[in-house]
Amino acid sequence: MEETFYKDLLIELECPICTSYMVPPIRQCSTGHSVCESCRNKLQKCALCQSNFSDSRNISLEGLAVKMRYPCAYRVSGCTASLAYNEREGHKLNCRYKLFIFVFTIVP
Ligand SMILES: [Zn+2]
Ligand SMILES: [Zn+2]
Ligand SMILES: [Zn+2]
Repeated sequence: MEETFYKDLLIELECPICTSYMVPPIRQCSTGHSVCESCRNKLQKCALCQSNFSDSRNISLEGLAVKMRYPCAYRVSGCTASLAYNEREGHKLNCRYKLFIFVFTIVP
């Protein structure tokens, strides 16, 4: 199913350290682990293997990230939007399913 196919690919784009989706520039340690830009900036060494980070980027994964459609952050509330990586933040601010999050948190 298309849904499963997407999920498999999205796992590849999850930062192994903070589990948010990696968007270009995607950084790498010298072993080859890919991490997101903010983890790269926060850490001195790769959290997975303690190697130093290299200056190279994971160009092939960046290519995938650019083509990938991501689920809305409020998908749990019922939003079915699929978004390009650079549309996610803008959509998140205006997503009409945002309000439902509060409803769910009130329910015991
Ligand atoms: Zn990260
Ligand atoms: Zn590593
Ligand atoms: Zn949405």
